[in-house]
Amino acid sequence: FIAIDELKLSYGDNNVLKNISLNIEEGELVTLLGPSGCGKSTLLRVLAGLEVFQEGELYLDGEEISNLPSKDRNVGFVFQSYALFPNMTVYENIAFGLTIKKLPKTEINQKVMAVLRLVNLEDKADYYPDQLSGGQQQRISLARSLVTEPKVLLLDEPLSALDAKIRKQLQMDIRKLQKQLGITMIFVTHDQEEAMILSDRVIVMNEGKIVQQATPQELYAQPKTHFVASFIGNYN
Ligand code: ATP
Ligand code: MG
Repeated sequence: FIAIDELKLSYGDNNVLKNISLNIEEGELVTLLGPSGCGKSTLLRVLAGLEVFQEGELYLDGEEISNLPSKDRNVGFVFQSYALFPNMTVYENIAFGLTIKKLPKTEINQKVMAVLRLVNLEDKADYYPDQLSGGQQQRISLARSLVTEPKVLLLDEPLSALDAKIRKQLQMDIRKLQKQLGITMIFVTHDQEEAMILSDRVIVMNEGKIVQQATPQELYAQPKTHFVASFIGNYN
């Protein structure tokens, strides 16, 4: 469904992504796990069409998207910071992406209310972002990126600014939502435990390379390198 083929990206002489090849199935939730600076965010931005890369090819749903502008890729993005518009209500924040597509008002209303129900915040439509908790704001970010019905949702450490209890709750919610909608998700984290809880498959990266890809169980049972073993093992 998603294919990344021999992707290379450097900033000057800093080789950030070194020959990345990766296939992701439709409806799969994969996490990119690895230490700070290994290239996780860069890889997501490449998929979103926000980075220029030097070599390689990208495919989404059978179509080559390497040179497709970001807005035509049908890819949703959720960032670590909530990045909601502070002067718009929750409803307006979510509707924004549909308004610029010039959809009819009744259709916009239906879609916005449907995603608000999905994230369990129907009663907050008229609130402003600063009247919501961090967890609620991140749910709204999620709703905002789902409302345009992307083929893929990219999440870059969306929970890392939240406290532990809310983070756990949102991990469950994201997983539930992902299964319910059957949407393909790529979730970046440097939290081993989060990766283990959430994923169908974990992609472990280090220094711009994929060092292992496996189910959480396989990763525990058979870490391929010393790096993987120590990285996975050190969270208790
Ligand atoms: P973290 O877990 O800290 O978010 P990461 O795995 O997401 O790390 P990236 O943000 O992808 O790491 O960065 C990978 C490398 O690319 C780093 O060495 C970083 O300095 C470099 N880099 C990222 N963005 C740029 C940029 N716009 N210009 C130059 N170098 C960059
Ligand atoms: Mg990052």
